Amino acid sequence: MNKTEKRVKELRDILDKLSNFNYTTSLIHWDLETGAPKEGIQKAATVLGFYSELTYNLLTDEKLIEHIDFLGKNLEELTEIDRKLVIETKKDIDRIKRIPVSEYKEYNELLSKSQAVWGEARAENDYEKFKPYLQKIVDYNKKYAEYKGYSGNPYNALIDDFEPGMTVKQLDIFFEGLRKELVPFIEKISNSKVEISNELLKKSYSVEKQKELSIFIAEYLGFDFDRGILKESLHPFTMGLNKHDVRITTHYHENFLQSALFGTIHEAGHAIYEQNIGDNIWKTVLGGGNSMGIHESQSRFYENLITRTKEFWKPIYSKLVDYFPENLKDTSLDEFYNAINMVEKSLIRIEADELTYSLHIMIRYEIEKGLINGEISLDDLPSIWNKKMKDYLGIMPKTDSEGVLQDVHWAAGLFGYFPSYALGSANASQIMNSLEKVLDVKKTLENQELDKIKGFLEEKIHKYGRLKDPNEIMLIATGEEPNSKYYTNYLIKKYSKIYNIE
Ligand code: ZN
Repeated sequence: MNKTEKRVKELRDILDKLSNFNYTTSLIHWDLETGAPKEGIQKAATVLGFYSELTYNLLTDEKLIEHIDFLGKNLEELTEIDRKLVIETKKDIDRIKRIPVSEYKEYNELLSKSQAVWGEARAENDYEKFKPYLQKIVDYNKKYAEYKGYSGNPYNALIDDFEPGMTVKQLDIFFEGLRKELVPFIEKISNSKVEISNELLKKSYSVEKQKELSIFIAEYLGFDFDRGILKESLHPFTMGLNKHDVRITTHYHENFLQSALFGTIHEAGHAIYEQNIGDNIWKTVLGGGNSMGIHESQSRFYENLITRTKEFWKPIYSKLVDYFPENLKDTSLDEFYNAINMVEKSLIRIEADELTYSLHIMIRYEIEKGLINGEISLDDLPSIWNKKMKDYLGIMPKTDSEGVLQDVHWAAGLFGYFPSYALGSANASQIMNSLEKVLDVKKTLENQELDKIKGFLEEKIHKYGRLKDPNEIMLIATGEEPNSKYYTNYLIKKYSKIYNIE
C-alpha cells in the first residue's frame, strides 16, 4: 500500500464512523417525528446534542484535515469515487470548522426543541410563542453565513448548502421569470369560464382505506417495501438511511383524499431515488441523493408529471373506485382528472396545486432573503407574509397557523432550502422533456410499464447519488443545464388545455 492508498483507507475509516453517527441521529429524528411521546424530546435533545458534538470533533480532527489536505493535492491519483469523497468532505469540514463547538452543539439542541414548540404554536395559532426560537435560529444562520463565508449576498452561503453554487442573483432571475409568466396566466385561469370543482375529493374517505391506497400506489410506482416503510407524521418527509432502508411518511385527512395520496406519491418519488443509488457508492457518503433541486425534481416528477395525468390513472382508475365506491362510483376519470388538477388560489403550500405552487415558494424565498439580510424583522413577519400572499395570490390568511406558521422548515433551521422546491419542479419538466424523446410516456403509463420510467431515472440520475454535481446530472439527463423555460412552457400548455385558454 503506498502513501496515498494508506491515506485513502484512513479517510474512509473516519467517514464510516461519521456515517454511523449520522445513522444514529437520523433514527432519533425519525422516532421523534413518527412516534416518540411529546415529553421524550427532553432527553432526545441532549442525545442529539451529544452526537452533534462527536460529529463536530471528528470533522475538525487534525488527522482528518491532514488526510484531506494531502489527498486534495494528489487528486489525479485517486479513483473518481475517492476524488469526490475528498472534495465533499473538504466542503463539510469548511462548513463546520469555523463554528465554535459550543455554538454548534447549542444550536442542534435548540433545533430539536424548536420543532416541538413550532408544532404547539401552530396548533394554538400562537406566533409569539414560536418567535423567540425563530429569532435564535435566524441569528445563528446569519452568524453561520459569516463563518462559512460568501461572495455577494450572505443568503448565498445558505442557499449553497442545498444547491451548490446557486446564488441570489440567479434565483432573482429565475423567480422573476416565473412571476412574469405565471401571475398573469393564473389571473386568466381565474377568469376562465371553465368551472372545475374538487368537492368530490372532500367527501369522507376512510383513513384505513387511504392507508391501503397509499401502500398500493407507492408500490405501483416502484417503491420497494422490502427496503422501506411508510408511516405517518405531521409533515410528510423521506428519510434515506441508505438504499436498503428508506423511510417515508404521509399525513391522512379524512376529508381530503388528495393530501395523503399525492403526499405519498411525492415522498415515494424521493424514496425511489434513494433506493436506486449505485451499488458502487451506497456505503459511502456519496450514497444519498444529490442537491435538493435534483432530489425535489424526482418527487415532483412522480407527483405532477406522472400521476397528475389521465394516462397514469386510466389502467388503475377502477381500482381507485373500488377503494371508495361510495364516493367515486359515479365519477368519471375525466372528472377525477380535472379535480386533481383544479387550480385554486390557496393558503397552504403543501396543498397548493401544481400551477400556483411556485408562487408560495417565491414568497418564502423573498422573506428568507429579507430575514438573513436584516431587512425584515420578526415582529413584522406575519404581516409581511400576509401582504405577499395578497400580492401574488390575491388571498390572505385569517390566522398565522395557515400563514407564517404553516411550514416546519424554519423551526428545523432550514434556511435556503425553499428555493429548491421551485428549482426541482423546473428540473422535473426538463427531465420529462428529455424522457419523451426516448419513450412514448403516455403509452408507457397506459401499459403500466412504470419500470421503464424508473429505469430511465435510475440510469440518468439515481445511480450517481452525489458522485456528480447537480449541473452535471442535468447535463447527463437532459443534455443541457437547468433551463426554466421547460417548466413555464409545460405549465401553460397543460393548464391552457384544462381551462380552455387561447
Ligand atoms: Zn420533497
